[in-house]
Amino acid sequence: MEKCEDVVVVGGGVAGLATALALHRVGLKSLVLERADCLRTAGAAFIMWPNAWKALDVLGVSDSLRPFYSQLDGIRGSSICTGVCKNVPLNSGGKGDSSMKLESRCIERMTLLEALAKELPEGSIRFDSKIVSLQRDTLSPFTTLELADGTSLTAKIVIGCDGVYSAVARYMGLPPAKSSGRVAIRGMVTYTEGHHFEKLMVQLWGKGARAGFLTCTDKKVYWFVTRRSHPQDAEICGDAERVRHTTLEIVRDFPEPIAELIKSSPAETINMADLKVRWVWPWEWGRGMEKGKGSVTIVGDALHPVTPDLGQGACTALEDAVHLSRCLEQAIKSVNMAEWGEAEVEKIESCFNKYLEERRWRISGIASAAFVIGLIQEGSSRLARFIRDWIFFPLFSMRYILYFVHN
Ligand SMILES: Cc1cc2nc3c(=O)[nH]c(=O)nc-3n(C[C@H](O)[C@H](O)[C@H](O)COP(=O)(O)OP(=O)(O)OC[C@H]3O[C@@H](n4cnc5c(N)ncnc54)[C@H](O)[C@@H]3O)c2cc1C
Repeated sequence: MEKCEDVVVVGGGVAGLATALALHRVGLKSLVLERADCLRTAGAAFIMWPNAWKALDVLGVSDSLRPFYSQLDGIRGSSICTGVCKNVPLNSGGKGDSSMKLESRCIERMTLLEALAKELPEGSIRFDSKIVSLQRDTLSPFTTLELADGTSLTAKIVIGCDGVYSAVARYMGLPPAKSSGRVAIRGMVTYTEGHHFEKLMVQLWGKGARAGFLTCTDKKVYWFVTRRSHPQDAEICGDAERVRHTTLEIVRDFPEPIAELIKSSPAETINMADLKVRWVWPWEWGRGMEKGKGSVTIVGDALHPVTPDLGQGACTALEDAVHLSRCLEQAIKSVNMAEWGEAEVEKIESCFNKYLEERRWRISGIASAAFVIGLIQEGSSRLARFIRDWIFFPLFSMRYILYFVHN
């Protein structure tokens, strides 16, 4: 048995590193346990909206990212079935309304992870450390974490940031995340001489599928395709060339440059993901979690898998990290870390309940909105496409939806 850690963060993805850094910023040391042998690159890039930039400002890493990633000027969406087109400006206020500017940049996952990790004290991340289970003896105020290599360690506080298949969420009694019935494929192209694309997020709505691309930097362009899952997806998802081939089939009716981007992407940037959801109604948050788990909580995808249709999974994980660190900063003032006992566990447990209470309505709203928007955008039946092209997009100003969700 190793020494007892004060705070253990399980998982070194966006949520884990942001949580460790947010805690560090409020004076709390933590140990991040990551199952992989290095920071994970899968997924290439993601779009970061104003809420993410606000969190990154608090974490003190936004200035090291902003200069390298282009601010998007807008979103251009069009239906390849009916030609309906919608433009949503992001980089300028409407007439006399400068407050509508939405900071949005597509940033590389690896650069974000490195920026967060660089700010942590040396030795904060331990790689090759996969957690297989957690236990807490009712008579002990400590949580024991069992690792895949057969070792174990104890911790006073555990924060699970271990993604959709979270071992910590399982320990807390949450049901497993389920497939939403949709998959996403993404990749990245690097143009060594620079590219000619406008600073836009372009989305094309087809029959049962959606494709899009957005500029990341002056040289990099990120693309994505989403559609309903097929039984053979599980078989091909580990083989980038088969994923590329299948994706080219999906977009055969889509205009260029979609196919060109897919063909030009290096295999290591191509990734196919089954999109997961976990339906927990806002009023059931906390009820789904078993009592008596003490000073353990969860952050990011471990708590709330969100389909990528509003580009909010990583953004809300960053928000979670900042909220949680603020709650803990207050709670820890009345806790004696050196004399850790049941009373300390109860104080941290009520702090974690407060954090979940603060997050539940916002997260449930975003997860539901993303799910519905995803279904609408991929309309496969004639009726679904009619609603999408002639009712939903003409009537709803995407700009206002984006403004309320992303701020
Ligand atoms: C197709 C697609 C597009 C997306 N686009 C966007 C977007 O544009 N904007 C956006 O904000 N979000 C987007 N997202 C969502 C975003 O990628 C996730 O929400 C985000 O990565 C979640 O971060 P996380 O740290 O919670 O989980 P993860 O990124 O999954 O990280 C979990 C970490 O924990 C580690 N781990 C797992 N299990 C264990 C264990 N047992 N022990 C130790 N370590 C463990 C993993 O190795 C990993 O490093 C997208 C998602 C998909 C699928």
